[in-house]
This record gives sequence, C-alpha cells and structure tokens, in this order.
Amino acid sequence: MTDPSLDRRVADMLHRERDARRAGDLPGPAIAPASLYHLPGEPDGPYQYGRWSNPTWTELEAALGALQDAETLVFPSGMAAIAAALIPNLAPGDRLLLPSDGYGAVRALAAERLAPMGVEVQTLPTPEFDAADLEGVRLVWAETPSNPGLDVCDLAGLAARARAAGARLMVDNTTPTPLGQRPLDLGADLVVSADTKAVAGHSDVLAGHVASRDPDLIAKARAWRTLGGAILGPFEAYLAHRGLETLEIRLERMEANARQVAERLAAHPKVARLRYPGLPDDPAHRVARRQMTRFGPLVGATFADASAAERFISACRYLRPATSFGGVHSSAERRARWGDAVAPGFVRISIGCEPTAPFLDAIDDALDAV
Ligand SMILES: *Cc1c(COP(=O)(O)O)cnc(C)c1O
Repeated sequence: MTDPSLDRRVADMLHRERDARRAGDLPGPAIAPASLYHLPGEPDGPYQYGRWSNPTWTELEAALGALQDAETLVFPSGMAAIAAALIPNLAPGDRLLLPSDGYGAVRALAAERLAPMGVEVQTLPTPEFDAADLEGVRLVWAETPSNPGLDVCDLAGLAARARAAGARLMVDNTTPTPLGQRPLDLGADLVVSADTKAVAGHSDVLAGHVASRDPDLIAKARAWRTLGGAILGPFEAYLAHRGLETLEIRLERMEANARQVAERLAAHPKVARLRYPGLPDDPAHRVARRQMTRFGPLVGATFADASAAERFISACRYLRPATSFGGVHSSAERRARWGDAVAPGFVRISIGCEPTAPFLDAIDDALDAV
C-alpha cells in the first residue's frame, strides 16, 4: 500500500531545508550538549537556556513535524509526551474517556493521578468507541490499533462525534507510527507517539512526541515540558532522528514479514486465534483498511496456554524474549505476564527486519517445537 502524498512527506523530510544548507554543513543534526547558550544583553534568539530549547531537538521536531504536517514537540519517553498532552487539558469535574484495552500506564496515570484530582475517568474497549455516547466527555483518548489486543476504532467518525459533543480527540499513534496512520488528517486534535518503539526503532533509546495543528494545545504541552522539566537529552534526540530517517524502509520489511507470519500462524493448528489488522478476515480489517496506510509490525497469536506460548517464544531463534516492540530485531512476549486482559497463551509478536526466508523458517521450526 503506497500513499503518494505520504511518500512525498517522507522524501521532503529527508531533504528538508536543502536550500538553506551552507558549504561544510553536517549531513544530519549535531549533538548539541548545552545547559546554557551565549546570551549577552537582552535575551534574544531561539536558544536561551537548555531546558527551554535545544538545537538537536529542533532537528528531530522538524523531521517529525514534516511527517505529521503539524507542530511537534519531543519528550524523553512516550509517557512524558502522554502526560504533557493529558494533564494540562483536564480540570476537576472533566470527564476523560480512555480505552480499557490500551497501554496500561495511561490508565494507571489516570487512576493514580487524574481521578484523585477530580477528573472522572471512564473506560471502554476500543471497538466500543465507535458507538460510544460522548455527551459530557471533555477529552477522548483513543489508541488504535490498541496495544496489545490490536483492536481498532474509526478515527474519522470518532473525531466528528467528539467535535459535535464539544470534546477534544487525542490519539496515541504508537503502534502504527506516523507512516501507518495519520490521526491529524482524520480529524484528531492532537497525536502522541512513543518513539521508543518503531520510530527510533533500534531498542536503544526512549523518546516520545506530541503533534498538533492547534496552537493552544502545543502551547500547553510546551509549557508543561518547560515547567515540568522532563526533557529529551541531545544524544537521545540524535538517536531518535537517526532511526526516523530509515523508518519507512524498515516498516516496509516489517510489514511484509508480519503479513506472512500472520498468515502462517493463522493457518496453524497450534494457534487458537490470530490477530493482525492486515488480514482480510480480521475483525479490525474493514476499518483498518480505510484509515491505515500500513498495518504495522505487531501480530497477536493465542496459543493453547501459557506454557505452549513460552515454548514458542523460547524455541524461535529469531525472536528476542523482551517487552516493548517496533525494533529491528523481532521480539515477543506473553502479555498476561503483566496482567493485561488477554488470554494466558496470548503472545504479542513484534516483527523486525530479518531477511524473510530464514525468519519464516525459524517461525516454522518454533511451531514444530510447541
Ligand atoms: C510503549 C508505549 C507507550 C509508552 O512509551 P514509553 O516510551 O515507554 O514511555 C505509550 N503508548 C503505547 C501504545 C506504547 O506502546
């Protein structure tokens, strides 16, 4: 599935500011370690103090912003970005709608910090967002496809209903990445991403971003970052930028392999249930096909029980047993080990960038060992 306008955004991202470059300029961002900047007389210019701005962030924000077609702010983790999106936009008495099947730390943040401050927190499974009554809701938080269950909701429909109800729609777009789904183009007010996952993509850095076309939402997230002080280090910004430049080509391999793995597992008698939004008979496929440009690297496979699932993971020589996802090395874990509301034999498999044939052989061998 190629999308010409998205391909254009990627090419523009890679060559941004080409005409502004001068002889001897670096090919990419400089790592700019600075707590202070030269600042004589009256404060002036974009760089005045290290907690407020940094040239390496600026490069990463420009690159992500070119993909999002929106102003973008970077953070030291996905959760730091999520906190900057949620907390400044909720007041006592506001109602927040969250997915009951999405990233668990978001629900924990809401339960442990927002609810005691007087925010009314309501949760629903992601597929039920499509028919949810949004009357009286202040902020709708969606995650589609949801992690780890890979259910989806219709973002354009949700955005229209949120607008009609006077609610804001914010979307955690971590699982698809900006190249797999564009919530802002579908009507969302704000998007967040844990760039720790596929965007940085090499399992060596935590990062996150917030993007929005609403200057008020950006101003609030920026003030949260400046005053809360949770900022990305310049070396981490450099790593995330370096990863981002190959995101498109990595996703191409990851998605092609994910689809073949999904088909293979779906047809195998030792797999009780298989979820991949790219498979035509997946319950999420109809909506996913309409709003996603790529179906991403995550496959959900349910084995008979926990021990069958663990046998599969440990027998597969090209699956790293680890939490997290989106890296160049394929990885897998049983999500019930963290208490997610999934079957004990449910394995979230993150497909990486291994060459296809040996990777599929390794999956076949592991299935034989289950
Ligand atoms: C990993 C993840 C996060 C949190 O990202 P961190 O960088 O670990 O803080 C948030 N949302 C989703 C969907 C994630 O998968």
